[in-house]
Amino acid sequence: MIRVAVAGFQHETNTFAPFPTPLSLFKTGGAWPALTRGASLYETMHGLNIPLSGFMATCPHEMMPILWAGAEPGGYVEDEAFEAITGEIVTAVAEAQPDALYLDLHGAMVTRAFDDAEAEILRRLRAVVGPDIPIVASFDLHANLSPAISELADGVTLYRTYPHTDLADTGARAAHLLDRLLQGPLAKAYAQVDLLVPITAQATEFEPARSLYAMLDDLDVTSADIAMGFPPADIPNCGPSLFAYDPDPAKARAAVDRIAATFAAAEDTFDARLEPAQACVDRALTLPGPVVIADPQDNPGAGGTGETTGVLQALIDKKVPDAVLSMLYDPEAAAKAHAAGEGAEIEIALGGAFPEYSQPVMATVIVERLSDGVFDFTGPMYGGARAHLGFVARLKLNGTGITVVVGSRRSQNADQEMFRVVGIEPADHTIICVKSGVHFMADYLRVTDRILFAESPGANPCHLETLPYTRLRAGVRLGPGGPVTGNEG
Ligand SMILES: [Zn+2]
Repeated sequence: MIRVAVAGFQHETNTFAPFPTPLSLFKTGGAWPALTRGASLYETMHGLNIPLSGFMATCPHEMMPILWAGAEPGGYVEDEAFEAITGEIVTAVAEAQPDALYLDLHGAMVTRAFDDAEAEILRRLRAVVGPDIPIVASFDLHANLSPAISELADGVTLYRTYPHTDLADTGARAAHLLDRLLQGPLAKAYAQVDLLVPITAQATEFEPARSLYAMLDDLDVTSADIAMGFPPADIPNCGPSLFAYDPDPAKARAAVDRIAATFAAAEDTFDARLEPAQACVDRALTLPGPVVIADPQDNPGAGGTGETTGVLQALIDKKVPDAVLSMLYDPEAAAKAHAAGEGAEIEIALGGAFPEYSQPVMATVIVERLSDGVFDFTGPMYGGARAHLGFVARLKLNGTGITVVVGSRRSQNADQEMFRVVGIEPADHTIICVKSGVHFMADYLRVTDRILFAESPGANPCHLETLPYTRLRAGVRLGPGGPVTGNEG
């Protein structure tokens, strides 16, 4: 019987985000499960849209479940968190002495000590299992994957959808790739693309990403994948990368070359789709409702603070008759609403804790509904998972048609339950505002195809030339048609 050790450690690090990611966030979970160890993984992961779930459901060999931990995207992962979780995985794998190893990683984790954190994880694991044990790793579509990742792993595969509706499918694909590698090694081909693609331009609902990913099925190789990269990361290996595997090295290389050529030809057609928040609201008012306005630059799922008020202020300025917004991360406002109770009218400051992005909105609000933030997701991405978002409150801005949902854990709105938890049915409203970049589309396209992307200041700028990069490798272009960095990396 072949014994396969499995472990997961997921974080997407925005090195420009104004707050760190401590160990406690991995322990508590949120939209993701809390840190889980050993045999408990069978129950925790069962039926979830998580790579490890798909891997465990597909791999025909004996599982040795080690650990899974993930936290909402944010600033640098603290060294203590990295060492605690990586150390535990490495120790357990060394003791398990598996015949093969599968890792469910993100590929954009950065710590103060390691700007290529996943390469460090692979390096330590390779050191304990030796050169002959196959290691397969799956990564997020938003991975910044270095040459070291390609060297250290025998097989790499990635999510192929954004919104990420195929996380479990990616785990299943990883299981098939590992099975193939257990029969013998495959030749690798790898390349980096010297272009940072703004997050909203990466959506596979739109061109050119849709066709780029569709071509993976047409390539005559064992496996091929594209990492789109995670732009708000000031590291040398920031940006897209390409992978192919095949018994024939020439075929693997040809596949990567073909993807690279197609990528280069598509450069001018990547479109971030942003329009200023005020213009967005103006346009929404001319369209039949419901209309969704996303706030990608403050997307908590890309390390945004989740509490900027640009879109909210635009709704107020334009005196919109009917709008709902979820979920503004403001634990103080949520606690104040809970202390006041349902039906109370209170003076409150909403969001705006980081003056570099926005100011608080001062308002008189009616506390319409309170929740403990525990609910079950039902959308295509998170469906099956249970949220633990702490105090949540539905606040109606007095004298307006605007309702804001405030929460106590930073969390992207990629699921309509982020409204329903406080009794709001999004489809019943004219304007639906979500703190999300692209993931919201998975669930909200079921409500409407009228979606707008507001440009409002946040920690995840889509105009990449506005970010103060100093460590990108030389020659990387900051967005399609953007300037070329001259950094030495
Ligand atoms: Zn992602």
